[in-house]
Amino acid sequence: MNSKSKKPVKTLRRYLAHIDTSRMGHIFSDCIVIGSGVAGLRAALAASEQGNVMLITKGEIPASNSYYAQGGIAAVMRADDSFESHIDDTLRAGCGLCDLEVVERVIREAPGQMQELCDWQTPFDRTDGELDAGREGGHSNYRIAHAHGDATGRAIVESLWEQVKSNKRIKILDNCFCIDLLTAEGRCVGVVTWHNNYRMQCCWSGCVVLASGGAGRIWRETTNPEIATGDGLAMAWRAGAILSDLEFMQFHPTTLYIAGAERSLITEALRGAGAYLLNSEGRRFMDDYHEMGELAPRDIVSRAIFDQMARSKSTSVYLDVRHLGGKMVASKFPTISALCASFDIDVDHDLIPVRPSAHYMIGGVKTDADGRTNLPGLYCCGEAACTGLHGANRLASNSLLEALVFGRICGENVCKDLAGGIRPAMFTMDYEIELSQRTRLDVPDVTNSLKAMMWRNVGLTREEGLLSEAIEIIDFWQRYVMDKLFDSPDQWQCQNMLTVSELITRSALQRTESRGVHYRTDYPETDASQCRHSETEPAQLS
Ligand SMILES: Cc1cc2nc3c(=O)[nH]c(=O)nc-3n(C[C@H](O)[C@H](O)[C@H](O)COP(=O)(O)OP(=O)(O)OC[C@H]3O[C@@H](n4cnc5c(N)ncnc54)[C@H](O)[C@@H]3O)c2cc1C
Repeated sequence: MNSKSKKPVKTLRRYLAHIDTSRMGHIFSDCIVIGSGVAGLRAALAASEQGNVMLITKGEIPASNSYYAQGGIAAVMRADDSFESHIDDTLRAGCGLCDLEVVERVIREAPGQMQELCDWQTPFDRTDGELDAGREGGHSNYRIAHAHGDATGRAIVESLWEQVKSNKRIKILDNCFCIDLLTAEGRCVGVVTWHNNYRMQCCWSGCVVLASGGAGRIWRETTNPEIATGDGLAMAWRAGAILSDLEFMQFHPTTLYIAGAERSLITEALRGAGAYLLNSEGRRFMDDYHEMGELAPRDIVSRAIFDQMARSKSTSVYLDVRHLGGKMVASKFPTISALCASFDIDVDHDLIPVRPSAHYMIGGVKTDADGRTNLPGLYCCGEAACTGLHGANRLASNSLLEALVFGRICGENVCKDLAGGIRPAMFTMDYEIELSQRTRLDVPDVTNSLKAMMWRNVGLTREEGLLSEAIEIIDFWQRYVMDKLFDSPDQWQCQNMLTVSELITRSALQRTESRGVHYRTDYPETDASQCRHSETEPAQLS
């Protein structure tokens, strides 16, 4: 495989919007953090130890994938568990592509991160004062800490937010959309933003930490909330950052399937607590596919479910929790219990219809073990980053952990740069875009069509014909979407989604093997000669 993907054929723009610095508002800070998920909040706290931080987020503070995380956070907690075992499980799931240095660092730091969260009053569930440890797919021991049963993300975000809002060195700009990273003299020097009240502004800083999360919203079926449109990946790519491993999108096996309703995650911890998967004939099937049964790694469970759906021509399979009892489900998984009740599913008697959907972006902006990207001044952490922790397949509950550890690492390294005397500067810029003469557009229609196409052509299983067709279709849409000068976040998001979809599809086309979450029906075997990371060349745009 050629590990460098080809550059897109179209002429794309360096910036999505006009920038005339003589007519815009200007804000200055030592460090900018983009995103208010776990990674961004943790990075802001660490960076604030040396300088002033501007935390920018496009929605309200809780609007993030982090807030919706259910199952928990992985850390070695029990005497019969070990770092080696957690490391082995992570490496096994990663199918040869994990970076050992990063894996060891993150997993060995997990107990310290847990202690810090406990010190910050995160209300983890406990029995007799000890943290409860659950189990999820791919883990060979009980090591998943959770809060309020299945509302772990909310509990962690709220405790980090308490720290952030009382920190005088952190300024918050919420409901503020980052359009593009500003670069000058080969360095990231800030962000161009859009805010309903302040309109377009230039936010200048010594360093930027990109913690803008994933891109699950590119697919029609997804567990991700509306914010996950891959803006950070597209921005970083336009600014000259290298992206890596974009073909690896993890699909979660069990999302509640009710036609017409938003897809909602049914946490893997429910299977860890003993729930079964049944096919449309009411038969358990996971033992036919893997020795770990319902607790096999996610890619295997997802493909097994798809296989069962295809064989029986049904739209879902089922989770059976009847033997666990409604009372137990309500006490340990209150979010899921309430979700099922809202659709009149009585878990004492009814099966829960589930099917896979896009969940976690393993690839992202390539970083080193210190969170640095190839673009000086730009750091990246959390789901937006590709640190090498997850390899070709993420082990359940390792991502909140990664977001915390790398959030802190990025914040601390920014501090080192600040100590080295980097201070924000203001550059003059006049970037004018010609108005397009082409037809007007129905942007929501393009966005919805893109999601449906990505689900059909670049979904859980892939093959050359469908991937090539996807590139043609994206190329066609790009020709009349990318030349427009837009003025609202939904429209910029559509442009970002098209860019990221193209980069993902090209990466998926180029990896002619099956590995981890990337499954090619035309290349079903893993090819040892392709055991390396893929890289998307940075854009060279003007
Ligand atoms: C339903 C669900 C359940 C999950 N369960 C678990 C679990 O149990 N355990 C686990 O480890 N992981 C879980 N995950 C994955 C995990 O939640 C995420 O990978 C992790 O929280 C990512 O954190 P983050 O801070 O990198 O990104 P996010 O939490 O997604 O935050 C991204 C932030 O960037 C902001 N942003 C994005 N674009 C822009 C822009 N253009 N301008 C300004 N701001 C922007 C967003 O508004 C948001 O605040 C789950 C994910 C989902 C969706």
